[in-house]
Amino acid sequence: MEGTAVPGRLTWEVATVTAATRETPSVRTIGLDVPSWPGHRAGQHLDVRLTAEDGYSAERSYSIAAAADDPVAITVERLDDGEVSPYLTEDLRVGDQLEVRGPVGGYFVWETADGGPLLLIAGGSGIVPLRAILRQREHSGSDVPVRLLYSARTQSELIYHDELDRHHDGVEVSYTLTREQPVGWTGYARRVDDALLAETAWPAGKNPLAFVCGPTSFVETVAGGLVALGYEPGRVKTERFGGTGGS
Ligand SMILES: Cc1cc2nc3c(=O)[nH]c(=O)nc-3n(C[C@H](O)[C@H](O)[C@H](O)COP(=O)(O)OP(=O)(O)OC[C@H]3O[C@@H](n4cnc5c(N)ncnc54)[C@H](O)[C@@H]3O)c2cc1C
Repeated sequence: MEGTAVPGRLTWEVATVTAATRETPSVRTIGLDVPSWPGHRAGQHLDVRLTAEDGYSAERSYSIAAAADDPVAITVERLDDGEVSPYLTEDLRVGDQLEVRGPVGGYFVWETADGGPLLLIAGGSGIVPLRAILRQREHSGSDVPVRLLYSARTQSELIYHDELDRHHDGVEVSYTLTREQPVGWTGYARRVDDALLAETAWPAGKNPLAFVCGPTSFVETVAGGLVALGYEPGRVKTERFGGTGGS
């Protein structure tokens, strides 16, 4: 069976970089052409494998930044002491190739039939799969009401800021900047805590479906806070990116 793709099993494939767009000083969106991509659902991720000339290889997961009917793209934040993200955000060029495997994950996904109301809560680059969900909602013409709470350290670190600020019917966006706020900032200015959740989240009585994504400690704080507000644990979906986070 060596070299033969087994149906249903994920295999590594060579993808070509089709676009590289700077989102913030430390974040890039990378468009990928993956020849036999089977399609994906909003919220899923893929794995990237980089192999050095000496054979050393490193694998990392990246959320797919695109709705199901959009071309595959990932959005990567550079961690200065990281092994993989500095290469993806600084060195990779259009036309370069890298290995990918996916789509991965069947739990942190949203499709129109899943309904809402939706509560999306992101810390830092945790906004990536939530952006895919927002785009999926828009593309499918869904009118499910959405509240998005997005936490970042500074305004310049908000990913997709212009896109999120564009008016979307039925989508309420709140930001919190935890380290530094520009003059005249009208959003929140502290880390997400129970009081901030109580102000911005749907009341539990509306039976919302929540998606929480970001650094591990952020996700745990928020998910715990939502359950304390009365959210049904099975309707609080979480995706942890690792690290301790600063959002
Ligand atoms: C399901 C899933 C989806 C993901 N999606 C995305 C995505 O869409 N965009 C994105 O930029 N990243 C995403 N990540 C994180 C990504 O997989 C890598 O962990 C990240 O790019 C760091 O890799 P690195 O090799 O540069 O750093 P490493 O060499 O692995 O780590 C360097 C240092 O940073 C710490 N660290 C690792 N990850 C994080 C983090 N997320 N935040 C803070 N500190 C961290 C480590 O503890 C270590 O000290 C996702 C992770 C998972 C599990």
